[in-house]
Amino acid sequence: MQSDNIKNLLDAQQDVLKIIVTGGPLNDVLVRICEMVEVVFHDPKAHCSINIINDSGKICGGAAPTLPEGYLEAVQGIVIGPKTGSCGTAMHEKRLVIVENIYQDPLWEDFIELAKNFNLKACWSNPIIDYKNKVLGSFAIYYDDFSAPSELQLDMLSRFTDLSKLAIERHYSSQEISWLISKLNQSNEQLKAFTSVLPDLAFILDEDCRYLEHYGGSSEFLYAQKSLFLNRTVDDVLPKDVATLIKKSVHKVLHTKSDQQFEYQLNVPAGLCTFEARITELKYYESDQPKMRHVVLIARDITDKKNAEQAIEKLAFYDPLTELPNRRMLIDRLNVVLDRIKRQKKFSALLYLDLDYFKRINDSLGHSEGDEILINVAKRLQPIFRSSDTLARIGGDEFVVLLENTEDSAELVSEEASIVAKKILEAFQHPIATEKSEYQLGASIGISVISDQVEASDDVLKQADAAMYLSKKQGRHQFTFFDPFLQKIIDEQLELENDIIFALASGQFTAFFQPQVDMTGAVIGVEALLRWIHPERGIIPPLSFLPVAEQYGLITQIEQCVFADACRLYQELAEKQLIDDQFTVAVNISAIEFRSPKFIQNLLDILEQFNLPANHFKLEVTESMLVHDIDDTIRQMQELKSHGFRLSIDDFGTGYSSLNYLHAFPIDEMKIDKSFTDKMLESKSGQAVINAIISLAFNLGIKVIAEGVETDEQYQQLKKRYVSGIQGYFFAKPMATPDLFKWLTEQSSRS
Ligand code: C2E
Ligand code: CA
Ligand code: CA
Repeated sequence: MQSDNIKNLLDAQQDVLKIIVTGGPLNDVLVRICEMVEVVFHDPKAHCSINIINDSGKICGGAAPTLPEGYLEAVQGIVIGPKTGSCGTAMHEKRLVIVENIYQDPLWEDFIELAKNFNLKACWSNPIIDYKNKVLGSFAIYYDDFSAPSELQLDMLSRFTDLSKLAIERHYSSQEISWLISKLNQSNEQLKAFTSVLPDLAFILDEDCRYLEHYGGSSEFLYAQKSLFLNRTVDDVLPKDVATLIKKSVHKVLHTKSDQQFEYQLNVPAGLCTFEARITELKYYESDQPKMRHVVLIARDITDKKNAEQAIEKLAFYDPLTELPNRRMLIDRLNVVLDRIKRQKKFSALLYLDLDYFKRINDSLGHSEGDEILINVAKRLQPIFRSSDTLARIGGDEFVVLLENTEDSAELVSEEASIVAKKILEAFQHPIATEKSEYQLGASIGISVISDQVEASDDVLKQADAAMYLSKKQGRHQFTFFDPFLQKIIDEQLELENDIIFALASGQFTAFFQPQVDMTGAVIGVEALLRWIHPERGIIPPLSFLPVAEQYGLITQIEQCVFADACRLYQELAEKQLIDDQFTVAVNISAIEFRSPKFIQNLLDILEQFNLPANHFKLEVTESMLVHDIDDTIRQMQELKSHGFRLSIDDFGTGYSSLNYLHAFPIDEMKIDKSFTDKMLESKSGQAVINAIISLAFNLGIKVIAEGVETDEQYQQLKKRYVSGIQGYFFAKPMATPDLFKWLTEQSSRS
């Protein structure tokens, strides 16, 4: 080769390399290669052509700047094979293919027309193969004449094939890089978007717990400014306990390969917050620190959730009004103490205290005043006890103190309990003040000494409760120790409860009826009065068992019996035509029943069974029931009225109802209590009371019935005062249904 030819060749190689390195579009690079090759060949009959194929072996692109126009397009899409001209065959067979005479070579058989059209006579083609032995394309020299390549030309063919390979590979790898970069950008953008909408904080830490990166979350939750913790360790930044926790968890993640989750509290700009953290290992390594492992820590603010959990727990174990432990918490702690006492054969004590006169204040002044008093009582009592003792509020005005200290003997514990009880009583020496007023209260206390003989926590409470009642009975504001004789009362009550349950099941409860008459002596109705017909003890009066029935939640069933009896009586009387349309049956309603949510529905269900309207029935509620929750009571009464029931106030004058409110209740009648009827003839003041009640009823426009009328004299006096009705032994005692029928028949035959 001539020296300037060699120089040309080297220059050309240099130029092509430059273009490849600076990386223009592939097509431009290939055109440049072709042009340079032709310069080096220095023969106008030689034309350079580069083809590129895709993965399915189809020609797609390339360069052939001096071949006749149209040739390059004509070969696009040709699929390489064993007989596809010089280039197709070279690529297919991965070998150099030299065709000196296209017109006679079998490789060109199928493309002979194409070659003739473009006046191509010889073609030497080399496949371009990458390092993985994958064919990328072909590099070829076409000749306008029949010709064989010289040695030099073959050498050039091989060199430029390599250069073309470089150019094509470079193109592909830069294509791959830009694809990777765009993928990377995409996942970065996704991550950015995620972390900007997620409220969680995310940190990347290395295995030394050094903060490397931070994403997401509000800076309100960051313990330190970003610039102050990045590239520093948790030890440098966080309080010791939290830092230790994080370090332990990171260590665990890296050694056990399992994710870790834990909670911690931090004082951040948003306040004292509880965070839930999760740590997981990042499965990558930094190229400059291939041994350093990394984790991601996600921290979520769960303060609200924690607070809600605490509030729920508080509701379950604390009294919301005074914030003292409630009954449930007391029982829990009592059980713990009982266990200990049994194990250690020791003694402790429980004090049960009930405020004196509180109910009266609460009833007459309303709940908010009562609540304020209870809160203040709790505040006053708390400092008396050791913090290990439990002061609980277990109901309305009932508090319990459980002494935590255990002693070796009952005497020692009793002494300690007496001291505590005295302190409690002293605490009430000064009045309890509210915003509105001051109240002189007292406390009745019952003390139960707890020994290993006690079976259940409930027994301890019952004993202390019984002792407390004794304190009340003996004049209030004192303390009494539980005495075994009190146990007898408790046992009797329990027995009575069981008897009542049995009596209910065997139908021993029934209603007696006592007639009510008007001033002319005509019967206007009856009052249903409960009787327990006991197989051995005979007829048991209601007041001896009703309190127990109320206490044990049996009142509903009993009153349903009475109301059903009342309905049955009315039905029979109506059938026998013994009564007129104005006739009513009065039924007594206990306070507990009146407040029960199912009360009205129960009554309606029974009425439906007998197919009777409500307006033949008069519900007697006691006056003391009117002072509780006035709004609720009015609402309940209005609902009863809307169904047609009549309402009467029993024992009027004995409660504490505020006369100011009386007009607000939708009542039809009031009953003068027997105690006033009794006193009516005794003194002037007795008369004055009766007169006042009657004129009050008159002003309210409601009826008035006097009960407990035993003598003709009383009857005559009342007659003069225009009461609407009279009830009492003077006319008739309460009677069983058959006796009432007899009585009514006699009455009607008399008139
Ligand atoms: P109360 O509603 O004031 O009933 C009137 C009580 O006085 C009845 O006593 C009745 O027998 C009695 N009595 C009627 N007239 C005279 C009289 O002239 N002289 C005397 N000394 N007593 C008379 P009872 O039946 O023993 O009922 C006592 C209380 O038991 C009732 O007082 C009422 O508060 C309650 N009670 C009765 N039955 C029921 C009931 O079904 N449900 C509820 N919750 N309480 C009832
Ligand atoms: Ca009554
Ligand atoms: Ca009464």
